[in-house]
Amino acid sequence: MQKLKQEKTLVLVKPDGVKRGLIGEIVGRIERRGLKVVALKMVQVGRPHLEEHFPKSDEWVGRLGDKGLSTFADYKLDPKEHLGTDDRMQIGKKVKESLFEYMTSGPIVAMVVQGMHSIDMVRKLAGHTLPFKADMGTLRGDFSVDSPAVANVEGRAIHNIMHASETPEEAANEINLWFKPEEIHEYKRAEEDVMF
Ligand code: ADP
Repeated sequence: MQKLKQEKTLVLVKPDGVKRGLIGEIVGRIERRGLKVVALKMVQVGRPHLEEHFPKSDEWVGRLGDKGLSTFADYKLDPKEHLGTDDRMQIGKKVKESLFEYMTSGPIVAMVVQGMHSIDMVRKLAGHTLPFKADMGTLRGDFSVDSPAVANVEGRAIHNIMHASETPEEAANEINLWFKPEEIHEYKRAEEDVMF
């Protein structure tokens, strides 16, 4: 049980979240839920760092392409007209490129969040990846409005203010990439004796 209580996840306030002054709101909602921030810093990253952060596989690029294509289909837009291709890998590469531009467009606030089911809890606080689908009351639902249909046509990534790890494996790899062990701290939050 101790392991579940101390689960760690990586949270990023993306450049649009930082520029919009949402660092405090995001940290505040995480803390309010009873989760503990155990590492925190602001960094400007470059492409090599992002190559490590995002999956390297063609499968991931293809998945990004499929998501883009399904958005074009949903809104009856012609990918060839807007992107010059309807090939899933080509579109995936374009989305990946725009994602790298977005993530290097300003500083990012990175943090490690620890607590009971922290991976699922933070994903829930963040809300759906696509802001227009995110429920009200979630961070993305309350503070963002972007749509992939518009983003893809404009050749940019979806601006969705934050990132949070999705699985325990992803969390372990991402924490290891963004933080040195000595940057991650241990302390007890006052509520721990009462909440669980
Ligand atoms: P998540 O951030 O929820 O883990 P993904 O791993 O699928 O989602 O995507 C990574 C990031 O890429 C998203 O947070 C978003 O900023 C951007 N993105 C995802 N899909 C698209 C798309 N179809 N068009 C533009 N940007 C996208």
